[in-house]
Formats: sequence, C-alpha cells, structure tokens
Amino acid sequence: MSIFDQFSDPELCKSVLDAIHSELEGELRFMEVCGTHTVAIFRSGLRSLLPPGVMHLSGPGCPVCVTHESEVGMYMDLAGRDGVIVATFGDLVRVPGPGGTCLKDAMAQGARVAVVYSPMDALALARENPGDTVVFLGIGFETTAPAVAATLQAARAAGVGNFRVLSFHKLVPPALHALLGDPELNLDALVMPGHVSTIIGLEPYRFIADEFRLPAAITGFDPLDILQSLLDIVRQRNEGRAEVVNLYRRAVQDLGNPKAVAVMDSVFAPADALWRGIGMIPGSGLALRPGYEAFDAQKALGLTLPEAKPIPGCRCGDVLRGKLTPDRCPLFAKACTPAKPVGPCMVSTEGSCAAYFKYQMEI
Ligand code: SF4
Repeated sequence: MSIFDQFSDPELCKSVLDAIHSELEGELRFMEVCGTHTVAIFRSGLRSLLPPGVMHLSGPGCPVCVTHESEVGMYMDLAGRDGVIVATFGDLVRVPGPGGTCLKDAMAQGARVAVVYSPMDALALARENPGDTVVFLGIGFETTAPAVAATLQAARAAGVGNFRVLSFHKLVPPALHALLGDPELNLDALVMPGHVSTIIGLEPYRFIADEFRLPAAITGFDPLDILQSLLDIVRQRNEGRAEVVNLYRRAVQDLGNPKAVAVMDSVFAPADALWRGIGMIPGSGLALRPGYEAFDAQKALGLTLPEAKPIPGCRCGDVLRGKLTPDRCPLFAKACTPAKPVGPCMVSTEGSCAAYFKYQMEI
C-alpha cells in the first residue's frame, strides 16, 4: 500500500470513525471552509457515516462563488470590447452575470474569451496578440495569487505592454474573521482549507482559537484526513481546548510557503474587497502595488464596478455564509441544476450547490 493509499484505507478510516462515534458528546456543528472539502466529504460518503449529531456547513471557500455580482458585472462589461481578449480559468465562463448571461453567452455574441490553464498562458496570449489587450481575470484565493504575481513579474521584466490583470483575488483569514463575528452562525469548529494553507501556513488562523475560542484543524482531502480532523476537533472540545492544529503536514508547513508569500507580497498589497453574500470586508482582497499599476486592468481601461444586480431567487450568499444548506434553496434541483445553473454555487466543481446536487441526489 502506498503512503497515499493509506489515507483512504477502509480499516484505518473505520477505526477513526468509530472513535468519533464513541467520543462525540452532543452535537457538532462545523464549517468546512474549502469547497474541495465539501466535495470530498460527499464523494467519500462520510455524510452518511458520521454520527447524526454532526452537521457540516459549507463556507466561503469556492473562489468563483464568492466573486461579487458587481465584479462579474465588470468583467462582463469588458468582454466584447474592441481590441480586448479576456483570459480566464474555465469555471468562470458559465457563471451567470447581470440578466443571467455569462461569458459563454458573450462568446456566442462574438466576445473574445480565452480559457487558459495558468496566468502564464494568458501572458503568452498577450505576446501572440500584440495589437490587442489581454486581460486576465484574477479570481482566486492565496493559492492562485502567487502564480498571478509571478506572471506579472515576468510581464514587467519582459516589457509586455498589452497584458493586464483584473485583480479580484480574495484572502481567506479576513473573511473567516468577518463570518465568525456573526453570532447567528453558532459554529463549534472549523475544518480549514488545505490548499490555501500550503501558502499561508497556520499562523494567520490563530485568531480563530485566541479570539473566538473555536477548535480548527487544517487537513487534506482524503477520507482519513477529514475523519482525523473531526476526531481532533471532538477531542479538543471534550477537553475544553481551542487550538488551530496542522494535520496536513505532508503538504502544509506551519509557516506556509515563504517564497510564494514573498512573490505575492512584492506584487500585491491587501485591499478592501467585495464578497458575494458578505459584502465589503476590509483588507480581504489584493490590489496591485504602485510598481505594477500599469498592469491594473481597472486603472488602465477605466473600469468601474457596476451596481450589484443580485440573481433573482438565488440564495448563494446565504449558502456561502453557512446560513443555508443548498437543498433548502427553493430553486435547488428545480430551476437550478448543473446543466442550467442559476447561481455560481451550482456552476463550479467546488460549489456546494453542485456538490449537493451531484452527490446528495444520488443517495
Ligand atoms: Fe443559487 Fe442555485 Fe444554489 Fe439556489 S441552488 S443558491 S439558485 S446556485
């Protein structure tokens, strides 16, 4: 058995699951911050195996989902402009914008939209199209931002003058701080995002234990990872402890990835940012530093945030704040399905509505 197979070994998983069943006292209401954890919990069938008193809520950890309606409106305005090629990751092309149209619809109307696999691909596109302006849609968390920052460093070093970035990046710790300040959320613990933590490590999450007195565990995406994080949380609670622990040591160092953080910090500075369902959170976004202003699509192209136009009937905002499970949205699996999504949480593979649809409907 390889080291990786061990993390889904049935016997090991059963022993941890048994310990959770025997040690859990009362109910446990936890939030898995990361959309990939939401999918992993469903895919592995853990929802049906955990004690009935365990309730999991999805958090704001799907980058496409938390992109604010105004931000979607801004890039939709941009698509179709003469001389502009919008470069984006694939998830975003189906996210409904104002009036329910998405980038895919804009492409059908003649907008030039390129799906890329990395920001470096977008930079290559700019080099190949010197007569156009290539705008890369900077959507994502701390996981994505270092690669965008490295691309901007490369663009500046090479003097590529027709490359721009629309920076809608979001930072996870300020959003968690804002969410945990909501007394209605009533959480017992947090399962922390593995991918983001590979970059920022454990330190930026300390406030969860120090200020909010909640246990939190950074963990991976295999069944045993998730079960171990829940057992740790149960034990912390039983012992009256509240700590942020790193249970994903095969990928996450407590201090994160200092090189990636340094690249990110050299290009971006924290800025206020809009989150779908949450609104403005101070210091939760990333703006380009003065040395990179020439690459800032908003400034270079004179873009302004349009007025937010919420999608009628869509409850993504409540889902992202842990206030509502997707199956309680009136449109879930009726007007809104992965084939015909109404909101972004049904579009992205990391979206909780899509996960509920794909896996819960199969149970
Ligand atoms: Fe929005 Fe669809 Fe999810 Fe409802 S089911 S919250 S409409 S994405």
